[in-house]
Amino acid sequence: MSDTKTSTEAPMNLYEMATAQFQRAADAIALEPSIRSILTEPKNEISFNFPVRMDNGVVRMFKGYRVQHNNILGPYKGGIRFHHDVDVHEVKALAAWMTWKTSLAGLPFGGAKGGVTCRPNELSRPELERLTRRFTHALGTSIGTEYDIPAPDVGTNSQIMDWMMDTHVNTVSILDRTRGKGVVTGKSLACGGSKGREKATGQGVCHIIDAWAKDSGRSVKGLKVAIQGFGNVGYWTAKIIVDMGATVVAVMDHTGAVGNPQGIDVAGLKAYMDANKKLPGFAGAKTITPNEFWGSECDVMVPAAIENQITGVTAPLIKAKVVVEGANGPTTTAGDADLARRGITVIPDILANSGGVIVSFFEWLQNRASEYWELEEVDARLKRQILEAYSNVTATARERKLDFRTAAYAVALLRIAEAYKARGVFP
Ligand code: NAD
Repeated sequence: MSDTKTSTEAPMNLYEMATAQFQRAADAIALEPSIRSILTEPKNEISFNFPVRMDNGVVRMFKGYRVQHNNILGPYKGGIRFHHDVDVHEVKALAAWMTWKTSLAGLPFGGAKGGVTCRPNELSRPELERLTRRFTHALGTSIGTEYDIPAPDVGTNSQIMDWMMDTHVNTVSILDRTRGKGVVTGKSLACGGSKGREKATGQGVCHIIDAWAKDSGRSVKGLKVAIQGFGNVGYWTAKIIVDMGATVVAVMDHTGAVGNPQGIDVAGLKAYMDANKKLPGFAGAKTITPNEFWGSECDVMVPAAIENQITGVTAPLIKAKVVVEGANGPTTTAGDADLARRGITVIPDILANSGGVIVSFFEWLQNRASEYWELEEVDARLKRQILEAYSNVTATARERKLDFRTAAYAVALLRIAEAYKARGVFP
């Protein structure tokens, strides 16, 4: 649920917001003008319309996108979103954020994002499968194990990735089929997915909360956490942070919000949501309004739903000491300004939710080597890699006197700039 409709902020599309963040960081590090102009626009913007036969026999047209922002550091990498709000501005912004995220995490990947404008919850499973396969077919050679590697995002999951992989390998040469399995990450274990990938983004969010708590002279034990979104990122963040000793005091999704200052039983809420497809009505918590959710008495606020949620209207309600962005782009420019004015720390999306793409990288490595890593190995490598990115950001923020968002961009941009400087611009 969102309060953004009541926001008085000048309307800014998501790409304009992402560009403003980029320009601020580019100014802070005096990024060379030629590199700045290369990075201002995506390399490729692919959009297409494709037909899908519905269960009632009617053929419906859908619009699909893949935006490939940058690949100086390696193959394009980024999720596929199935949602009714998907448009080119959103996909461009999400693609650019992937370029910064993979660079910040020290991965040999670039940035991309894709999606289909649709309401996946209103499609039957066979319709969803036909839509996924036809979308993948339309993408054709625009994706590939060494070229552009999609993953799950809002409205997609391991089943969608399995269908994408299967469609892809059935359309490439017979000799490329084994290698072709690495064309997407976030697959099920049966189809070459990695242990630990499903929980990876939430796991990474929890490592970041833990690191912030230690830096603030506190412990994760006893922290009160509010979470917007109870899908992949929101649910796993809630489950893991409770396992680490914190308390989840409020949860909100698109169906409503629930709160319990004594702590919500996360497993119980998940079982209730799976059975009833909504959060309100759960016996272990009180149904609350969106404004009550944002104003929850908590230490940590985790937006883990969609973009533009913490606005000039909702940010002033937040009482947390830190906002940890599990979602991409959840905080608007006015929201950021309000949180900064009130001394609330924001740990930005490109750092906080990078656990997903880090484990996607591990999945890609396992596929290339035909290996399966144990969960302990995946978890240990994830922890090391995300905490290194966190240290780089906090050190850069200290040294350059920047907020964490700008510092995270600075680390990412400096790595990309170094590659451009070394390689030059062809010819
Ligand atoms: P998901 O589809 O599994 O869950 C989305 C959640 O957001 C659901 O609980 C839904 O009810 C909620 N939601 C949707 N619209 C809402 C609204 N208007 N108000 C309140 N809640 C709303 O998606 P996900 O994979 O958990 O992704 C969530 C966010 O995390 C997105 O911004 C995504 O880009 C980002 N992200 C996801 C991953 C990943 O590995 N899945 C990785 C990095 C970042």
